[in-house]
Amino acid sequence: MNQNKKVKAILPAPIFDMGGMKVRQPFPSAAIEQVDPFILLHHANNAVPSEVPVSQSGVGPHPHRGFSPVTFIFRGGVHHRDSRGNDSTIYAGGTQWMNAGMGVMHSERPADNIHELGGTLELIQLWVNTPAARKMDQPAYYPLKAEDTPGIRLDDGRSEIKVIAGTLENVKGPVPTLTPVNAWTLDFKKGSHFRFTVPDLHHSFIYLLDGKLRIAGFGLVEGLHAAVFENEGNGIEVEAMEDTRALLMTGLPLNETVVSHGPFVMNNETQIMEAMRDYRMGKMGILIE
Ligand code: MN
Repeated sequence: MNQNKKVKAILPAPIFDMGGMKVRQPFPSAAIEQVDPFILLHHANNAVPSEVPVSQSGVGPHPHRGFSPVTFIFRGGVHHRDSRGNDSTIYAGGTQWMNAGMGVMHSERPADNIHELGGTLELIQLWVNTPAARKMDQPAYYPLKAEDTPGIRLDDGRSEIKVIAGTLENVKGPVPTLTPVNAWTLDFKKGSHFRFTVPDLHHSFIYLLDGKLRIAGFGLVEGLHAAVFENEGNGIEVEAMEDTRALLMTGLPLNETVVSHGPFVMNNETQIMEAMRDYRMGKMGILIE
């Protein structure tokens, strides 16, 4: 039986200042700690300063352990380099999916030609938690270009869904994930309508970068808000009331204790101390740009 998931909460996305870079953060917040296995969402939409060399913009070398920082790029491009030798620039419509595993150093800077592309970088960075048993795996990095991302064009021919990970209808996303996760981006024109089939055990949310959606069984959700769904039900049905870009994520919850500190996401305090020690000892590698 087709039953749509109910909306559990609508989250605004207040602006935080991350060392001079403004990001919107619908979660974590006082209202909702995480949408297990999704720990944190940042939506950045900023002009890249022209007075600073691009090579010094963005975020310089820093470590991660225990989760997957995933960057969905909507405008501009991101130049990723890491201590395992990966070096790639991904542009609008593409994704950089990194499993930090036991630890990796990376930098996230605007594409070298960002000013030729209009000088604006718009992205979502989502932290996807890694289950305890896999936190010390070797790191892995999956750069996915827009042209290599399969999608579904809606029957009306005007709107599109991209499948980055997981599946939708018969389309399979190229990124392998450590646990069951669906990652879909929506580029909907006003009037388009779609029902997503979502497993009933999955936690799920949709974040609107802009526009306005009507969610069946609930009502309107505005841009720069996230809707978080209840588990029960097997679908999410949306209609675009305006042209809308959105990220829809679903995932099987890990149901594990989360202890995070800065760039590390582990299961207890001891593991956090170990991560800080291993970082200081150079066990997460070295990145010289
Ligand atoms: Mn990072």
